[in-house]
Amino acid sequence: MHAQDTDALHLALVEALGADCVSLDAAVAEAHAGDWSDAPHVRPRMTLLPRTPEDIARTLRVLSKHRQAVVVQGGLTGLAGGATPQSGEVALSLARVNAIESFDRIGGTLTVQAGVPLEQLQTFVEAEGWFFPLDLGARGTCQIGGNAATNAGGNRVIRFGTMRDLILGLEVALPDGTILSMMNRVTKNTTGVDLKQLFIGSEGTLGVITRLVLKLEPKPSAANTALCAVASFDEATRLLKYLRARLANLSSFELMWHDFMGAAMDIAHLKAPFGDAYPVYVLIETLGESDADDRRALEQALERMLEEGIVQDVIIAQSIEHAKQLWTYRETVGELLSKLKPHAAFDIGIPMDRMEQFVEDARAFLRERFPQQTHLFFGHLGDGNLHLLSGPYADAPDLLTVEELIYAAVGEAEGCISAEHGIGVIKRDFLYQSRSPNEIALMRELKNLLDPAGVLNAGRIL
Ligand code: FAD
Repeated sequence: MHAQDTDALHLALVEALGADCVSLDAAVAEAHAGDWSDAPHVRPRMTLLPRTPEDIARTLRVLSKHRQAVVVQGGLTGLAGGATPQSGEVALSLARVNAIESFDRIGGTLTVQAGVPLEQLQTFVEAEGWFFPLDLGARGTCQIGGNAATNAGGNRVIRFGTMRDLILGLEVALPDGTILSMMNRVTKNTTGVDLKQLFIGSEGTLGVITRLVLKLEPKPSAANTALCAVASFDEATRLLKYLRARLANLSSFELMWHDFMGAAMDIAHLKAPFGDAYPVYVLIETLGESDADDRRALEQALERMLEEGIVQDVIIAQSIEHAKQLWTYRETVGELLSKLKPHAAFDIGIPMDRMEQFVEDARAFLRERFPQQTHLFFGHLGDGNLHLLSGPYADAPDLLTVEELIYAAVGEAEGCISAEHGIGVIKRDFLYQSRSPNEIALMRELKNLLDPAGVLNAGRIL
């Protein structure tokens, strides 16, 4: 791009947004050069920091007119490379579009702008006796708009669903600058095609999410946590089935295979939870109304599982601090992701009846072919969501080999190549393993319809 084009674009953006929202500063560009994934960092040509949803719409109008490619950035915790700029793109950050706009304390809905960090939102509603159930390790930094764009899942999907299930309404700025308001606040709404669903999980390829109406739950007054040792994946599935039938308030069922547990203990200098080592560990959480009753129900259920030999050993947290300690094993993921870079980080979905065989085959293959690397298996078992973290791979072809083989195996197992992190750029070339040619063709048509100039998050997903 010529200098005069840059100047003309810069001028037009300054006119639309004001000079303090358009940055050419190298340090600012560096801070916006990449997300949490391994996609190579690239400094954006300019960094745009609009203050309002209307600013965002104006920005997109200017960018479309100038046919300038743009990447949308939330909290930059994404693991699929979707928010990492491609060469020549400008970055559009939602960091300042972060107001909590209104709160329906009777109906339990919250209207927010897209740049509100997840944890801030959780804390805000909890102070008012309400609860927003989405929860993930990146909670302090990821934004609610980014969560919607990726249809984030996390630790409580088993009970409350993914982000898609928690959104009542949405406002989106389309690539041509049109604001599409779908700010529905009622739970039941059968008034034609539910257009917001197009944008949830479409990773910023169809429009920029600017506002959301979120569905809240009453704040639970009791949380109980337990860590179980089990002899096999098969036993873990029996435990899950039993607990689902017994504990209506079961909210998490997180599986960690022994290799993950070992790595978690090493990296965070944690003590082994049990006297012996076991093949599989399960972290369980219930969220309910009565601490004593809920705890008794959990204890009784787990005692029964111990008697039947399905659970080998169990620790039930005795305090909030103790519960946090039990969660620490699972929450080492962020540190492990950093330590094993460059890594292959999979967030695949596998039908439950194929999961055990899949893990066994993948582990055997990876250990034989890449004995120097670390291969860790864990997942949100209740949702059939398996995470595999494998690395570090100094040689890019090795990384590609691992991805090709694992994704081919996912296709064979009738699973999906992303259960929650999204496709971004990292999984784009493998999309065909999960979606049919006709589905991909329709996705392209929708993209062309809404973004004919191809300026918004181009090259992500498709
Ligand atoms: P970004 O990384 O900024 O962007 C992600 C994608 O969404 C990009 O394509 C971007 O262009 C687009 N986007 C962002 N904001 C908008 C917007 N307002 N409008 C349109 N498009 C937008 N994910 C899970 O689902 N479950 C987990 O359990 C989980 N655990 C994690 C743990 C750690 C330690 C880390 C680092 C990440 C984890 N993630 C998890 C992944 C990540 O946190 C989620 O994908 C999160 O939803 C991304 O939000 P973000 O605001 O950081 O988005």
